[in-house]
Amino acid sequence: MGNSRMKCRKCGRPAAINMRRHKLALCDECYPAWFRGQVERTIRQFGMLAPDDRVLVAVSGGKDSLSVWDVLLRLGYHAEALYIDLGIPDGGYSTESKVRALRFAEARGAVCHVVSVRDRYGLSVPELAMRRGRGHKVCSLCGLVKRHIMNGFAWEGGFSVLVTGHNLDDEAAVLMQNTLTWQPGYLARQSPVLPADSEGLARKVKPLCLMYEREVAAYALVCGIDYIQDECPHAVGARTLFYKEILNQLEQRSPGAKAYFFTQFLRAKQSGAIRFVEGEEVALHACERCGQPTTAPGLCAFCRLWQSDTQGDEG
Ligand code: AMP
Ligand code: ZN
Repeated sequence: MGNSRMKCRKCGRPAAINMRRHKLALCDECYPAWFRGQVERTIRQFGMLAPDDRVLVAVSGGKDSLSVWDVLLRLGYHAEALYIDLGIPDGGYSTESKVRALRFAEARGAVCHVVSVRDRYGLSVPELAMRRGRGHKVCSLCGLVKRHIMNGFAWEGGFSVLVTGHNLDDEAAVLMQNTLTWQPGYLARQSPVLPADSEGLARKVKPLCLMYEREVAAYALVCGIDYIQDECPHAVGARTLFYKEILNQLEQRSPGAKAYFFTQFLRAKQSGAIRFVEGEEVALHACERCGQPTTAPGLCAFCRLWQSDTQGDEG
């Protein structure tokens, strides 16, 4: 990570990380404090959290979600976590990631709730994908299932805000995908804060949205956070991973470019310089089965997945 001859800007000890975009090198003692300060600033800048919020952190066992949980606990927030066991067997992916999340919780005396998709609904996500057949890739199903369970758990548990670990590389890759295909609806909604603007919807925030993936990895490493390093086996080859590579090439040539791409987008939207219209406002109503808000008549996309007689489609 660091250059062995580089010295920490704050204390002069050997640097552990050099951040070209900030022209800043820091040692393993000064870095965590700096990182937490940056996250705190992001939280303030976007009005993400209030001191009395009941926070639910969605943790996957990876570096991003465990790091954001770590930072929030250290900043004094009341933050519990939710781990969703998707039942992905490849190389023990789900088991390994769950162990990481639970061990982290135990070490800090914090609460990590677990929802197992198979225990609750009868099938793991890969089993569900298999049953639904063609057109249902594990990744898109998994996204739908995670969003539904996270939102439902936060709402029913009385949490005032749901935190995810999305970092700047994630956000920039999604932004790139959405601009390359000009998706006004997605561009309108891409934001560090999503308000709970309907009954049954949890407010969602992304406190790491201005931190680079390698900065988060360095934080986890320096703080001794034991996380699952593998990508989900189903995500290998995903398009967003390719966009991340392209953005990193850009960053290599022009440090800060990746952050600029994302932050200027937010700024331009916020100032009204660019506007994306979400499309017609479609009225939300409660799903007949689970009660979560949906635009679909009758059952929401999640509940339709579990119906045995139809080819549940996403939407
Ligand atoms: P991903 O969709 O895998 O890129 O993950 C984005 C964010 O969703 C992570 O930073 C976590 O906050 C959350 N997340 C992902 N997987 C899980 C999971 N199995 N259980 C709970 N939260 C998760
Ligand atoms: Zn439903």
